[in-house]
Amino acid sequence: MKRVDPLLRQIVETISESGVRTHLERLVGPRDPFGGHAGMEAAADVIAEAFRGFALQLVEERFRCEGRWYRNLIASRLGSFRNGQVLVVAHYDTVPNSPGADDNASGVAGLLEVAGALACHRFKHDLVFIAFALEEYGNPGSLYYVEQAKACGAPIVGVFDLEMIGYTGPTQTAPPGIQAPAAGDFIGVVGNRRSEGLVSLFKGAAALVTPSLPVQAFVVEGNGENLPLVRQSDHAPFWDAGYPAVMITDTAFLRNPHYHLPTDTLDTLNLRFLWQVAAATAASAALLAGFA
Ligand SMILES: [Zn+2]
Repeated sequence: MKRVDPLLRQIVETISESGVRTHLERLVGPRDPFGGHAGMEAAADVIAEAFRGFALQLVEERFRCEGRWYRNLIASRLGSFRNGQVLVVAHYDTVPNSPGADDNASGVAGLLEVAGALACHRFKHDLVFIAFALEEYGNPGSLYYVEQAKACGAPIVGVFDLEMIGYTGPTQTAPPGIQAPAAGDFIGVVGNRRSEGLVSLFKGAAALVTPSLPVQAFVVEGNGENLPLVRQSDHAPFWDAGYPAVMITDTAFLRNPHYHLPTDTLDTLNLRFLWQVAAATAASAALLAGFA
């Protein structure tokens, strides 16, 4: 690590590969609203318990979808100035018949490590950590949250959406017309014009605390309407509501051959990579929230 602020260094050093592994071992398994419903509820309990263990204030936001109740888990730590909110989010559901290690136990494991590392520091802005339900089914969880946030004028200054952050591979593909490196060893950070500052912040933070982590930034026009795959996660409702948000991703099916399959298992993940992404995210969120 380069010469960095001692508080930032402390945060990054709190995050560990073994912490990531422990979360993953408790989360990986079917977590869909059908055959995996019990697994989804168990995962929500694991996440809630972890948030409570960090002494964060926890709210379980319940919403109804097709006749059943689901819950977003919202953990927060109030800032000293109360004039802004920094969000770190990840979805915890899966598609049917997939244990969802990369999609998206990896994002949730990163979220929990980031929350644990930031929970014991004081910031100017509020920190809000959210595990969303049902991202795989049209994002009703994050849509519901954003609707409430917008209605009450929540002062969200930035959202970091962890969407598959645990897979690296020898090859990388890209949609037509998009340039990408040949090797699938980078983390992608995807923003729209309004979120360009967040994209740069993440790149800068990663260069500072995890200099060996390759980062590829991608800024889309509008809200990504011309490239639907860049909208496929919980950051899209925030974009649509006018909030700055970035998706942090290993690029999903453009790289990971196990995407949405029974083979999306823990042993396919690169935990060192996941650890680096979590560290860079924690540093980004800390810098945006501002030490108090
Ligand atoms: Zn996902």
